[in-house]
Amino acid sequence: YQLSYHDLRVMMRDTVTLLETQAILHNIMIEAEYGTEPLWIYGVENQVKQVFINVIKNAIEAMIDGGAIRIKLTRQLDTVSVRFQDEGPGIDEEHLAKIGQPFYTTKEKGTGLGLMVSYKIVDNHQGRIQVKSEIGQGTLFEVILPYRYP
Ligand code: ADP
Ligand code: MG
Repeated sequence: YQLSYHDLRVMMRDTVTLLETQAILHNIMIEAEYGTEPLWIYGVENQVKQVFINVIKNAIEAMIDGGAIRIKLTRQLDTVSVRFQDEGPGIDEEHLAKIGQPFYTTKEKGTGLGLMVSYKIVDNHQGRIQVKSEIGQGTLFEVILPYRYP
């Protein structure tokens, strides 16, 4: 594993660049606020990027009428946080309890593994993922990781 120090802003820019075309094809704008200071984490670049990819792809797949995905990166004293707010249909409480369980999917061709893998990766990085969702209001995924100055 290539454990190393990374600026989350750089990783997020790469991820947004990777998924922008796919978003536009679905009439979705990805709007990201990166802030002004480096957001250092210590971890495996491709794994953390994979988490971002999984969350953004889920948002794209949920937003069948298009809209905006708003991403905001912020730093707290000893953590960095990435919020992904979508304008999808939202997830009700019953389904919210099941997301991240292996093979839980509501999609015809879903694997139900994306969030399970994402939770695992974030856990391995001593972080956590929080989800807030309201039917008709969209879903907010927040990925919180330890801030690690190189
Ligand atoms: P998959 O995408 O293969 O279904 P995931 O683990 O990525 O598997 O997601 C599991 C389930 O969580 C999805 O099938 C969907 O029902 C729900 N989900 C995840 N993200 C969102 C979202 N942004 N909006 C609505 N539902 C979501
Ligand atoms: Mg998925």
